[in-house]
Amino acid sequence: MRKTDLFFLRRASMLLLTALCLVIGLRGMSGQGMVATLHPAVEGRPVVLLDAGHGGFDGGAASQDGVLEKDLNLAVAKKLELELLQRGYAVIMTRTKDEALRYKGKSGKSADLNARAALADQYADAVLISIHMNKFEVAKYSGAQVFYSANHPNSRLLAEAVQTSLREQLQPDNHREIKQGGGGIYLLLRAAQPAILVECGFLSNPQETAQLQQPAYQQQLVEAIANGLESYYNKEKDEAGQGTATP
Ligand SMILES: [Zn+2]
Repeated sequence: MRKTDLFFLRRASMLLLTALCLVIGLRGMSGQGMVATLHPAVEGRPVVLLDAGHGGFDGGAASQDGVLEKDLNLAVAKKLELELLQRGYAVIMTRTKDEALRYKGKSGKSADLNARAALADQYADAVLISIHMNKFEVAKYSGAQVFYSANHPNSRLLAEAVQTSLREQLQPDNHREIKQGGGGIYLLLRAAQPAILVECGFLSNPQETAQLQQPAYQQQLVEAIANGLESYYNKEKDEAGQGTATP
C-alpha cells in the first residue's frame, strides 16, 4: 500500500467516525427532546390530591337498587385522574381500588378518615378534590353541588369555579349554590390547602343514578370539573400577574 493511499484511508475512516458520532449525538438529543415533551417535570406543575370517597367496607350511600357510592366515586375519580394527567397536572390518588385506607396499622372508619387527612397534610401544596355522591329522603332532587373547606380562602374560589363550570357545561338548570362543608365532612374540616368536595349527583334520584353510571356521562362530569379547576388556576395566575397560560 502506498503512503498516499494510507493517508486517504485514515482520513476516510476519521470522517466516518465523526459522522457516526454526529448521528449518535443527534439521536441522543432528539431522544431527550421527546422525553421532555412526553413527561414534563413534575416541578412547577400544579398537583391535585384526588380523593375517591369511601371504599372497601364503607360503601357510602346506596341507591334503591343497590348502586354503591364508593364504586361511582372511584369510577369518576379515575376518569378525572386521566383527564388531569392529560392536561399536565400531577395527580395523587388517595385510593385506586375498592379499599378503605389504614392508618398506623389500624382499620375502620376513623382510621380511613385519618389516613386521608394525613395525605392532605403530606401534600400540603396540592389542591384537594374529593369525589362523592349525594342522597336525600326525597327522590325528586338532583344535580351536582360543590362544598368547600373553610381553612383556606381559595377553597371558596375553587368551589365557585367548579360549580359554575358544572352549571354552564353540564346542568344549565342546576341552580345549587356552593356551600361551606360542615363538621360532617371530616376531610374538609382537616385540609389546610384549597379543598373542595364534589357531590356529583343524587343516588336517591333514579334518573340521575342511571346517568351517573354511564361512562359517557362520567366523562362529561370530569371534563366540567377539570375545566372549573383550570379557570380557578387561570384566575390565580392572573392575580399573580403571570398571564393566563394553562398549566
Ligand atoms: Zn360520600
